[in-house]
Order: sequence, then C-alpha cells, then structure tokens
Amino acid sequence: MGQNEFDVIVIGGGLAGLGTGALLAHGGLRVLLLERRPILGGRALVVKQQGFTLNYGLHYIVGGKSSPHYRILERIGKLNAAPLAPVNAKKLHRMRAGKLHITPTATLDMLTTGLLTPAGKIGLARAALAIMTANIESLWNVPIGKWLDGVTNETSLRNFFLDLCGPLTFEPVPQEISAAHFILAVRPFLMPKAPIAYYPVGGWIGMFEAFKARIEKAGGEVRFKAQAEKLAVEEGRIAGVSVEGVLLRSKAVVAAIPPGELTELLKETPIAELSAERLKNIRPTMGVAVDLGVMGLQNDKVATIELPELNATLGIHNLFEPSLAPEGGHLFQFLRFMTAEQMQDSADVERSESMIVELLETIWPGIREKIVLRRTLIRPVLTSASHRYDQPRPTLLPLEIPSLRGLFLAGDATASPGELSNSAGESAILCAKLIENYLGRS
Ligand SMILES: Cc1cc2nc3c(=O)[nH]c(=O)nc-3n(C[C@H](O)[C@H](O)[C@H](O)COP(=O)(O)OP(=O)(O)OC[C@H]3O[C@@H](n4cnc5c(N)ncnc54)[C@H](O)[C@@H]3O)c2cc1C
Repeated sequence: MGQNEFDVIVIGGGLAGLGTGALLAHGGLRVLLLERRPILGGRALVVKQQGFTLNYGLHYIVGGKSSPHYRILERIGKLNAAPLAPVNAKKLHRMRAGKLHITPTATLDMLTTGLLTPAGKIGLARAALAIMTANIESLWNVPIGKWLDGVTNETSLRNFFLDLCGPLTFEPVPQEISAAHFILAVRPFLMPKAPIAYYPVGGWIGMFEAFKARIEKAGGEVRFKAQAEKLAVEEGRIAGVSVEGVLLRSKAVVAAIPPGELTELLKETPIAELSAERLKNIRPTMGVAVDLGVMGLQNDKVATIELPELNATLGIHNLFEPSLAPEGGHLFQFLRFMTAEQMQDSADVERSESMIVELLETIWPGIREKIVLRRTLIRPVLTSASHRYDQPRPTLLPLEIPSLRGLFLAGDATASPGELSNSAGESAILCAKLIENYLGRS
C-alpha cells in the first residue's frame, strides 16, 4: 500500500471517528483519520485554564463501563486509559421550588424522596410498569407529555420522570421528546441498580489518545489540520478523499461529522439520501455552557444539581475527579438547554451566567466573591440531533449509504441507540462492523 493509500479513511476526530478508527485498526485495517483542527476530541475537546480543566462539550457519560466508549476501550485492550472516577450517588441532586433533593437512583430512594407527594409515590409503581412494558415501536412519533397523560395526571410524578429529560437528552421542552426515546433512556433508571454519570480520571484526553494509539499501532495515521474537502468517486464507488487538492485513496470512507459539515463535504458529490435539504432538516439541541472556577469554597456533598425549572443542569466536576480543579478549587459547569427561538434573544442568552451565579448564591451565600474564572460559550450544537417526537430516531442518518458503495456515516446524528455521546459511540461500533463486512465481501 502506498503512502497515500489506506483501507479506510475516517473523517472527523471526535468520539465517533476515533472510536470507529480504533475498532477498524484493531481488526487489522490500515486507517487514516483526518481531523481539521490541531487537536482531537471534536465537541468533547478539553482545555486547561488557570489550573482548571474546562470541557468544551462532553462532561460525563451515562452508564460507565457499559457505555459504548468503554466497550470500545475494552475491545482494543485499553480500559486503563480512562479509568472511571467513582461517584457517590448521594452527591447527585435535583432542585425543585428552591429546595435541594438527593436524586433518587434506587427504588427505595424513590419511596422516600421529597420530590414525590404521597399520591405520586402511590402512582409510581403503575407508571414504572407502564414504562417498562410500553411497546416502543408505536411511540416514536408520540410526544412523551401526551403519552404520560394516559399514565398519570399527578404533577409530582409527571415531573419526576420529565425532570430526567434535560440531563439525558439536552431537550429544552421535555414534554415534546419522542416517547420511545424517553422510555428507552429512562428504563435503566428504574432497574434495581440505576446507571449514574461517570467521569474518567484525568479527563477525556486519555481516551482520545488511546484510540489514536490503536490506529497508529496498526500502521495507520492521524493527520491534524487536515480538512476533508470532497469525496472521490470512481465507477460508482468511493475511491478516497481530497485534502488540499491531493487525493488520498481508500476502499471505504467514514464521515464522522455533524450534518452541517457533511453538507459542505458533499457539495460537489450530491447523494440522493443525503441531500442538503434533508441534512438541513436535522435539528440539533442547543444552549449555553457556563464554566465557573471557584476558590475557597467548602463543599464535599454536592456533585451535580439538575435544574429542571431552568431547563439546565449543573456539574461540580471536581467532585467526580479532583484533578479538574486546582487544590482548594471547585469547577462548576452549567449547561442551559434552549430552543432556537430562545437562542435568538441575546439578552436571554447573556443572562445565563448571572442566572447560575444567583442560584449558587442561594445555596452557598458569598460564592460570588470566590469566583476566579468565568467562561460562557454559546453552543448552537450540543448534540447534532434532537430526539423530539417530530424528529424521532429512526428518521436520523443511516450508517451505510446504499447509493454510494463504500461511504459510511458515524456520529450523534445517526439513527444509533443511546443518548448524547453514547449515540456517537454506538454508531462507531455499528459502523465498524458494517465496514468489516463490506471490505470482507468487496
Ligand atoms: C457543551 C456540551 C456539553 C455536552 N455534554 C455532554 C455530556 O455531559 N455527556 C455526553 O454524553 N455528551 C455530551 N455532549 C455531547 C457530546 O459532546 C457529543 O455527542 C459528541 O462529542 C459528538 O461526537 P461526534 O464524534 O459525533 O462529533 P464531533 O465531536 O462534532 O466530531 C466531529 C469532528 O469532525 C471534525 N471535522 C468536521 N468536518 C471535518 C472535515 N471536513 N474534515 C476533517 N475533520 C472534520 C471536527 O473538527 C470534529 O473534531 C455535550 C456537548 C456539548 C457541546
């Protein structure tokens, strides 16, 4: 194989591209991964500032070792690259009506929590049974709010379930999530040992580096500042990718990039299933991220606060992993989920930072004076695809493109199972399998 010839070219060094590349390399294929930036991670990018480790995107993952990212690490024999920091479930909180409650993660906690009224607790078993036994396939286009109408009218019980939507789906209007998606996301939380959020020791970089190392070990390469400009097609099949006018050859290509970037890539290679119109219609979730570095605060009890009344969630990430803040410091990461209309209102967007500081003052009076680092980022794409009832998972992007042999897709806009980054990870596992089959038979 020549210097510019590969079995597979993967476009995108985010979690989906890295995971797909690592799995293919593990299967013995020579992979070239192209990343347009000088750094890996995509939306899961991490930077250090004033001793704090700031996440641009991905904060923690749900499901720990059962999440696809860890299943990939396990498959390539690199589980130690990102060991999971244990988190005590009693440190996970939800705020309602100005009061902090421990988020119930076990059945017994659900029966004792102040988040449910006595009537809510009585209705809980019936609602849980309805969730566990629902027929998913008929519910993709049904808003969860409507589905819950048939299960319970009790406000605290409805809220109890809908409050999980923000942190699990980043959706600003929980009632409008596809009932099927919601049910699949929530079912594990009703099992005896609920999954909780995890953070890897030392942050995400260990995971990215492990995926990169696996690609290189198999004779492949990760190229930075390498923007894929267009796809090359010969005799109706993928022949490679152009970067700075140079054709890099491969038998298969994986585009592990969000719909906006995919539209750009396909400008000169129109593909019926991936028309600009179709890609434009995939709406992302969006919002504002505020990071606060705080010094001199006493807190070892509160690691997260779900804030359903603000359509937001807050992680105090050094309680997951102490290295994320300098000694004596706390790292607060606030994520506010907004609709496209709300994002147009710049005053409302700008209010995000004062909104969270005011709320923190109600819990830790005087915290304002302890803030040493503030960073607010407007994020037009949190996840590439919303899971509203009118954009249900089955309508998202396919992993294999029948009309152009050799072209595959990965990422969190594909119709892969799982929430948030877990959907990107699942797409990597599924996509790698499809490519192995394709190359095996071509
Ligand atoms: C603020 C925020 C908070 C989040 N919090 C969480 C969380 O707590 N838990 C969770 O599970 N998920 C979270 N997410 C979502 C998670 O970050 C994403 O789902 C995941 O990182 C998406 O990975 P991806 O590989 O599909 O896409 P991306 O990460 O977008 O990767 C695409 C990559 O492709 C590159 N690229 C694009 N076009 C080209 C091209 N033409 N040539 C070469 N390279 C190209 C980009 O530079 C990028 O690196 C969060 C996201 C944000 C923004």
